Amino acid sequence: MSALDRATADETERPPDPSAFGVYYARLQHQQNMLQDVVRTDTYRRAIVGNADDFRGKVVLDVGAGTGILSFFAAQAGAGRVYAVEASAMAERAASLAASQGNARLARYAPDESRAKAGALSTSKLSADAAWDALDPTARIHVVRGKVEDVTIPEHVDVIISEPLGFLLVHERMLEAFINARDRFLKSGGLVMPSRGDIFAQPITDGQLWQEQEAKASFWRSQDFHGVDLSALHDAALDEYFGQAVVGYYPPEAAVSDDVATYAFDFGTCSVQDLRKFEIPFSFRITKTAILHGFGCWFDARFDGSTERVVLSTSPKAPGTHWYQSRLLLRRPIAVNPGQSISGTLSFKVNDRLSYDVEVNVVLDGTSVSSHQRVRLDDQMYHYLTPGQPQVPHA
Ligand code: SAH
Repeated sequence: MSALDRATADETERPPDPSAFGVYYARLQHQQNMLQDVVRTDTYRRAIVGNADDFRGKVVLDVGAGTGILSFFAAQAGAGRVYAVEASAMAERAASLAASQGNARLARYAPDESRAKAGALSTSKLSADAAWDALDPTARIHVVRGKVEDVTIPEHVDVIISEPLGFLLVHERMLEAFINARDRFLKSGGLVMPSRGDIFAQPITDGQLWQEQEAKASFWRSQDFHGVDLSALHDAALDEYFGQAVVGYYPPEAAVSDDVATYAFDFGTCSVQDLRKFEIPFSFRITKTAILHGFGCWFDARFDGSTERVVLSTSPKAPGTHWYQSRLLLRRPIAVNPGQSISGTLSFKVNDRLSYDVEVNVVLDGTSVSSHQRVRLDDQMYHYLTPGQPQVPHA
């Protein structure tokens, strides 16, 4: 058992502490970045408002509400009561937004419009402890500041909505909080949105990107850096650069196979443990003469409403999102030819940096040629096709 194995085995079912992200998410500019991801926000709205039958008159929990946008969508879809739980100080912004005149229609029950117009909700200054005392019983959206695994809400809910998606679906480990909330608060037979997440991987060639990483490491080959021989660290530098997850769009033509490996999480049934360690086996038939430099990965989130099934895709063939795609490079690439096949695994295991270590193992079938790479999903290298795009540290 490695140290990592022990760390995982010792962990309880509790999701990790997201406070490292708390400062980040408390900033309006970062919430804005997510709100302005048109694909993300429109798809969520379609999934919720387009499935109004699942929300009308229902009790809803919004896990990690941020500005409360998904809670507003739920209210637009006719939800009776929405609990908007947010760990960061953004909770107070969400409460003022819900209480503001322009949103009062959504933030309060409709029966008495004159009361709805009367002013702010008393929830605009919530702390975790004071939350319940401060609640206005007539409010439609109740904002609660706290980690979802720490708060209590007074009833079980019909629907849980959340946007817990990180790079490659799982980075940030917020899905664990989503599943924890499902286990504690969802009525049996209730609905979770998203209902399912799929990770996809395909083998790619990208000589330029590979050389870029190698060139950065070559600094450490210097034998006379102000009189100091740095070359003893060159190997470690290569490990570090190739151990970065490359975040950015890549063209679908980079694929060297038509095959795609997939791995699905059913958010209605999966456990927190299922998320902490999982393995994606793959087998790809090669279609090009090329150098295999690594794997291009993305994810879809699916919303199985009773009216409409909606898919949020971050595929290289889909319109761009702030999740881009993620590439896992091989320090030791493999030359491949059409007709050959490669197989192996991508093994994901949580680390204590709210992210994952990914072990990539690949063999050229029928040969002794293989490659292994460890990639840290929390160590990201941003690489955009279009220069000048915002360098966004979030997903
Ligand atoms: N739902 C919003 C924000 C999504 S970002 C939207 O769709 O725009 C994720 C949010 O979840 C962040 O604001 C973050 O602070 C919050 N969060 C992360 N982990 C949490 C947890 N365990 N409990 C409550 N909120 C959490």
